[in-house]
Amino acid sequence: MDKLPASDFRSGYVAVMGRPNVGKSTLLNALLGQKIAAVSPRPQTTRRQQLGILTMETAQIVFVDTPGVHKPYHKLGEVMNESAEEALQNADLILFVADASQAPDEEDYLLAGLVNKLKRPVPVILVMNKSDLVGPVDLDVHQAAIVELLPNCLPVQVSAAQKTNLDGLMQAVLSRLPKGAPLFPEDQVTDLYEREIAADLIREAALIHLREEVPHGISVRIDEYTEREETGAYIAATLFVEKESHKPIVIGQGGAMLKKIGSAARVEIEKMTGRKVYLQLRIKVQKNWRDDEKSLNNFGYRKP
Ligand code: GDP
Ligand code: MG
Repeated sequence: MDKLPASDFRSGYVAVMGRPNVGKSTLLNALLGQKIAAVSPRPQTTRRQQLGILTMETAQIVFVDTPGVHKPYHKLGEVMNESAEEALQNADLILFVADASQAPDEEDYLLAGLVNKLKRPVPVILVMNKSDLVGPVDLDVHQAAIVELLPNCLPVQVSAAQKTNLDGLMQAVLSRLPKGAPLFPEDQVTDLYEREIAADLIREAALIHLREEVPHGISVRIDEYTEREETGAYIAATLFVEKESHKPIVIGQGGAMLKKIGSAARVEIEKMTGRKVYLQLRIKVQKNWRDDEKSLNNFGYRKP
């Protein structure tokens, strides 16, 4: 393909939104071809606004992975809604991701409400994900119900997990991206420091291995992240739990659970960084960290 004149280059911010568990992180990872956003079988692993940057010959897409919007029943919920709204206001294009195998629910309505209430109209692509889980008739019914909520959207049906029709989605995105010069250097894939991604990967490993036993009550702080020429990276991190009674669950019999979480997280961090990692985990109790504004700041859920 001939190189486009610089004046035809396209670039922009693409906000990825959708209720928890519809596959936003899976989609972002599939589009970017590497593991950046934390993917989990349980909702709400992605807590921060994250960028994934895809640079091509003719365009640069900067994806913003917004946390799911849901009813704010405690402060963490409010913070998540705020950052979702912020991502939308600054977007050039919105990817509204929905679960094609289910009829839209209350949360989809809430999200669509957010989009419709934006002061500046932003083009919307409706991504009907998980198309592998549903027949064509039901898919059409579910899609029509969401199109009714987002009258000007362009629907595209994909399966992020099976990488179906991602080309079609990319074409739709590229055709709606504004003209402009690249926003970031072309070798940059994310604006998050590696240590923040590492913290997300550790939290993800903990959630996967603990399942329902410590519900949502884990936060991760990276205490040290140092490069060692010969041995790779040394990472020390603290897992915070809300209750004293959660501590032995996270540690496990003779430290077995902590070891499992540590080695699962280490494997993922090594994949992300492409080098060896030595990971050391500690546990601390910090009561009610989710309702405490100050700890939310400390854990990086709000920009300083
Ligand atoms: P998020 O909360 O929106 O970021 O959702 P995740 O990306 O973490 O995905 C939630 C769950 O749905 C995970 O178990 C994924 O493997 C699964 N998932 C994501 N996309 C698809 C898909 O296209 N098809 C199927 N069958 N499962 C998917
Ligand atoms: Mg996610």
